[in-house]
Amino acid sequence: MITVQNFINGQFEKSEKFIDSHNPATGEVWALIPDSGSQEVDDAVTAAEAAFPAWSALDYSDRARYLFKIADIIDERLEEFALAESKDQGKPVKLARTMDIPRASHNFRTFAQAWQHLVETANVVKEQGVINYSVRHPIGIAGLISPWNLPLYLLSFKIAPAIMAGNTVVCKPSEMTSVTAWMLCQVCQQAGLPQGVVNMVFGYGHTVGEAIVTHPQVRVISFTGSTGVGQHIARTAAPLMKKISLELGGKNAAVIFDDADLDKCVQGVVRSSFLNQGEICLCTSRIFVQEGIYEKFVEKYVEEAGKLKTGDPLNEENFLGAVNSKIHYDKVQSYVKLAETEGGTIVLGENTKSLELVEENKNGWFVPPTIITGLPDSSRCMQEEIFGPVVCVTSFTTEQQVIQRVNNTRYGLCASVWSENVGRIHRMGLKLEVGTVWANCWLKRCLDMPFGGCKDSGTGREGTRHSLEAFTEEKTVCVQIF
Ligand code: NAD
Repeated sequence: MITVQNFINGQFEKSEKFIDSHNPATGEVWALIPDSGSQEVDDAVTAAEAAFPAWSALDYSDRARYLFKIADIIDERLEEFALAESKDQGKPVKLARTMDIPRASHNFRTFAQAWQHLVETANVVKEQGVINYSVRHPIGIAGLISPWNLPLYLLSFKIAPAIMAGNTVVCKPSEMTSVTAWMLCQVCQQAGLPQGVVNMVFGYGHTVGEAIVTHPQVRVISFTGSTGVGQHIARTAAPLMKKISLELGGKNAAVIFDDADLDKCVQGVVRSSFLNQGEICLCTSRIFVQEGIYEKFVEKYVEEAGKLKTGDPLNEENFLGAVNSKIHYDKVQSYVKLAETEGGTIVLGENTKSLELVEENKNGWFVPPTIITGLPDSSRCMQEEIFGPVVCVTSFTTEQQVIQRVNNTRYGLCASVWSENVGRIHRMGLKLEVGTVWANCWLKRCLDMPFGGCKDSGTGREGTRHSLEAFTEEKTVCVQIF
């Protein structure tokens, strides 16, 4: 059994109270997570405050050296990290090995080089004889709060830019998936990162998370998680005048036009629907298919999704592992039941094919790919974030109609468009109310581009330049030329 410890001022601290962390694939407790409170947050903030002057005074290239070292050690410990991420979150170990962990080290490397993207401007106003220039400086202590679905990947996407910009940080990963964050603290220690630059306090959101958000010395909050918690953080932090970045939920659509390359599109949409058990904020959860190809698409989509294996995340053949927790399993299943009462037909799912699980996974929380047709756009299944391997498919008539229907949701995270018509792709790109539009692909994005949502999917923009801007303040200096 792993016992996770808080990491404060470069030291691992013993705790007295713990939270059970379950392996979603077996249902067993596999790690104990500190059940910390505001005292530990205070200690972490004190450490971060003490570390800030020296850390922020370093040159970018000196800070970058630490980030490169951290990336190298993560790579050296790839297999260990991948296994822990799989046991913690339920994801297939193969996915952790090929996506989550390499992306975490990539985040550190990318931000180690990305400081060149920070734009500072200069302007000489000849008539007034004044030179204006802007400078960016670190804000101070950043509070970083992350969710359970891509534990190391998303946390490192916050830590790397925050410390690279010269801030020191107090982090809180999800209480359900804290093990790889604790391992990252070991890596920081191994890399010789100065004490207090990265502090990690483990525990629940309503205790540790709340204490970070309300702490007067924490001047910037970067949060990724659900829209409900994001709204609460916005309400709490706004009167305290903190800089806030919120990356929240989604209800992402795939739009398939009748001129799409159907084989490629089916492969792409199967992946976007079910990768990581549908537990990626960017996964497709509504599919709109143009009426002429609707029957053909559904037949192929169901056939391909039906080939995906669900089960033991350690078995390299399984495409889907377990969903993250019992609570989440119950939530996902409640939507599958709801779909029937809302008039939907389950064309693929547990009712069509039973799961074959090995003995040790019998108490795990597994949901196979589930496809529902026939739901009205206004149904809860078409409007609310399910965040599991459950997708609703419907048909549409015209481009204009589908734009309205895709936009008919409170969320605005991303969408994918499948068509061979380049003009149509650009029109859709401009008219869909989302932060990212993919065309004939999914999840391919250069980190230099802004990432984030609109509407209830959040206010943040992450990416090399955008994250560094989010973790810095800009000042204008106006100098009179005598
Ligand atoms: P969540 O909102 O329940 O929790 C996220 C984090 O916030 C956790 O660490 C949690 O402990 C903490 N928290 C909870 N209450 C808090 C409070 N009162 N104050 C401060 N912190 C608090 O989300 P989750 O269930 O962990 O993650 C799933 C959600 O995250 C989904 O909605 C998904 O779409 C979203 N998500 C969004 C993105 C994105 O980039 N937009 C990426 C991944 C996940």
